[in-house]
Amino acid sequence: ASRAAASTARRLLGAARDAIAVEAEHLGELDAVAGDGDHGIGMLRGLNAAVGAADALADAVGVRELLETAGDAWSETAGGTSGALWGSGLAELGRALGDREQFLPVDAAAAVTAACTRIAELGGAAPGDKTMLDAMVPFQHALTAQVDSGADLGSALVVAAAAAEEGAAATAAMLPRRGRAKPLAERSLGHPDPGATSFHVIVDTVAGLASA
Ligand code: ADP
Ligand code: MG
Ligand code: MG
Repeated sequence: ASRAAASTARRLLGAARDAIAVEAEHLGELDAVAGDGDHGIGMLRGLNAAVGAADALADAVGVRELLETAGDAWSETAGGTSGALWGSGLAELGRALGDREQFLPVDAAAAVTAACTRIAELGGAAPGDKTMLDAMVPFQHALTAQVDSGADLGSALVVAAAAAEEGAAATAAMLPRRGRAKPLAERSLGHPDPGATSFHVIVDTVAGLASA
């Protein structure tokens, strides 16, 4: 069917929004440990804007325009560091996917890599800084390794989401070197990074749907 990729993207965005709505309070509590406590509401505001912008587009719009529009709405509406990074990453994902409607798993993994590279460049963080990158980089590496060894996209995403979960959990032992949590870094010891945690929530939701 034409516009298949765009309709998949619409469905995944809605599911991500619903999953973040369930976790928003917990994400806010994590962000309140050493940050400003707005990560849950910021992510939810951004995802609501992304879903709203996607819903306002015509059915015929392709996945590139859909994700660029949704990503721009996320960046503009969410406020905060994570909103700017997620919005730009989503827009880059759209540009990298382009206007094809059929994708090989390696094409999807390459687009995810482009989005993650954009987020890393914009934020200037590195793995170990206790940011979303500590879930994102293991996710992206696992996804690429899986599809390179011939896995279908659904099972590759499940393995990659597990890598993100492990990466997010490991941030509990780290001291933040970026963002608002840095000045109160010691307080965050023993608590996972909010942005790494929400990254895992989103990719776990996507993996669950893609492998169903
Ligand atoms: P803000 O810190 O502006 O209130 P949020 O609370 O929504 O924004 O997001 C905080 C999260 O953003 C952190 O937990 C971390 O994962 C992520 N983050 C902060 N700075 C950076 C950065 N430079 N690069 C990547 N991620 C970052
Ligand atoms: Mg915050
Ligand atoms: Mg804030």
